[in-house]
Amino acid sequence: MSEHSLRREIAEICRRLYERFYLVATDGNVSARLGEDRVVATPAGANKGFLTAADLVVTDLDGKKVSGPGKPSSELAMHTRTYRERPDVRAVVHAHPATATAFACAGLPLDACLMTEAVVGLGAVPLAPFAVPSTQEVPDSIAPLVRQSDVVLLANHGVLAAGASLMDAYNKMEGVEQFAKVLLFTRVLGGPKLLTSEQVTRLEALRERYGLAGKQMSCSGFGGSAAASSERETLLDSIALQVMQSLARRS
Ligand SMILES: [Zn+2]
Repeated sequence: MSEHSLRREIAEICRRLYERFYLVATDGNVSARLGEDRVVATPAGANKGFLTAADLVVTDLDGKKVSGPGKPSSELAMHTRTYRERPDVRAVVHAHPATATAFACAGLPLDACLMTEAVVGLGAVPLAPFAVPSTQEVPDSIAPLVRQSDVVLLANHGVLAAGASLMDAYNKMEGVEQFAKVLLFTRVLGGPKLLTSEQVTRLEALRERYGLAGKQMSCSGFGGSAAASSERETLLDSIALQVMQSLARRS
């Protein structure tokens, strides 16, 4: 894809992320590989809802600016580390969608075997340990996980989604937020009915049939297991109850 097309697609994806409230104000960043050793990315401090193709910056794989009007984002180190760890990744989307970010802030990975689409397209979404923004801790915290999973929750922060294209990474961001929402909603509907191990095996086999590339981890916590009454389940029930009470107070 030409640089011009990549720039237009990044600006369009930023607009959609903003319109879906996956990021607000100057949150988040989006990038794509431009050849093997260059990256085109959103600049620091920009509201992504208003960004144009001309505002983007080009950097090398160390995050050093090559061209563009603005400064590279300090969070670009997450992107460049992902490209270094994963030669197959062509694009990275980082955003803070509220529900998935709530799981990241509650210290909960999204690893339940629950939704067919999530098992096939995302797998278990792991949780990277807390890291202070703009420090080397951030790329170091995601590196071991991004080798195994295209989508990673960042503790007390947000979500990183990598893909074979910009649209692939963006779709994974939509998918993880939907998965988080559905999991949360099930808590107020009597709790999730988890898939069985046999169902998960059959679903995972579909990845090959659909020709899905990328990396994902296997979900855990199958239907019928003793995990149903675990401490984590109790915590999830408590979170769901608090969310519902908060919504009720607002209405
Ligand atoms: Zn962020």
